[in-house]
Amino acid sequence: MKFATKAVHAGVEPDPSTGAIMTPIYQTSTYVQASPGKHKGYEYARTQNPTRDALQASIAALENGKYGFCFASGLGATDTVIKLLNPGDEVVACNDLYGGTYRLFKRVFEKYGIKFHFVDMSKAENIHTFLNEKTKLVWIETPTNPLLNIIDIEQVAKITHSFGALLCVDNTFASPYLQTPLELGADMVMHSVTKYISGHSDVVMGALITNNDDLAKQFAFLQNACGAVPAPQDCFLVLRGIKTLHLRMQAHCANGEKIVQYLTNHPKIGQLWHPSLPSHPNHEIAKKQMRGFGGMMSFTLKDDSVESAIKVLENFKLFSLAESLGGVESLCGHPATMTHASIPKAEREKAGLRDSLIRLSVGIEDAEDLIADLAQALG
Ligand SMILES: *Cc1c(COP(=O)(O)O)cnc(C)c1O
Repeated sequence: MKFATKAVHAGVEPDPSTGAIMTPIYQTSTYVQASPGKHKGYEYARTQNPTRDALQASIAALENGKYGFCFASGLGATDTVIKLLNPGDEVVACNDLYGGTYRLFKRVFEKYGIKFHFVDMSKAENIHTFLNEKTKLVWIETPTNPLLNIIDIEQVAKITHSFGALLCVDNTFASPYLQTPLELGADMVMHSVTKYISGHSDVVMGALITNNDDLAKQFAFLQNACGAVPAPQDCFLVLRGIKTLHLRMQAHCANGEKIVQYLTNHPKIGQLWHPSLPSHPNHEIAKKQMRGFGGMMSFTLKDDSVESAIKVLENFKLFSLAESLGGVESLCGHPATMTHASIPKAEREKAGLRDSLIRLSVGIEDAEDLIADLAQALG
């Protein structure tokens, strides 16, 4: 089945009790048994819920995976992956991770004796030095936030497997419409469903997808044993959002392209980051592993000061100043004072995060209106 058909149909069967075409919100904590242990496959809603089951099957299908698991947030999903590990195990992660992922690794899991290495993976072979017999997991995000760095998933998977470790890809920025890491050799995919998959800025949720039977067993165990499960109403909202994922992504990509064109020649723009640009250091890898370049981009101003960036951000009328991304509405953000404020300035700049850097999550509004807003905000 092709992507658009899966987005509309995968995982969703008419409800067996009524024929309802849309999966009902099974707002229940428990299920009645006919006799002890004799039930219809559902005992307690932390363990199984039909609304969640439909969503998990849908998300698995979108990533071309056999198994999907949903969690109360993206970080809840990431937490589950790290709980596969034991004290003494090592993880190699890319060095420009989502801030919350970095915080979870460093401030929660390091004290349980798991060691994390943070590595610039713009060249896949950079990870060689950090892999050893204790490495159990390689964790990458591509494209990354906010500079849209691209990591070669296929190459990293090859090196990771040669050391007997597993590769997890945080596929939040691309969405399964643009990139399917399991097909490039990843062992598992993680999503902040909060972003593109849900797409309407009204749910916080996470997901894990895998083809590996053993990993699936462990994820099912951890999902139930640790209990970070999503609520049925949220599962319903995400099922509804997924039906238009392909259409939304096409609009994000088309608008992204037009805005990149507009900003490329704008006299007030310093540097522009988007994987579609031939000047992007890993443009060729993006072309190889992605089916489009998406609506996330960042730029600096020629006048590289916090004050100028704040002025532009305050001027926006259509772009809303907010954290998060991937919703139908356009958002703008200022990494230096918002998402990346906890990183000292010297370190920020070393990573390319200049004071005037502005990040856009381009929505699905009319591109002409978005460009007019950019023109007046920059003017
Ligand atoms: C938002 C985000 C997360 C965390 O997901 P939550 O749903 O907020 O817990 C992880 N990775 C990336 C790339 C994100 O953008």
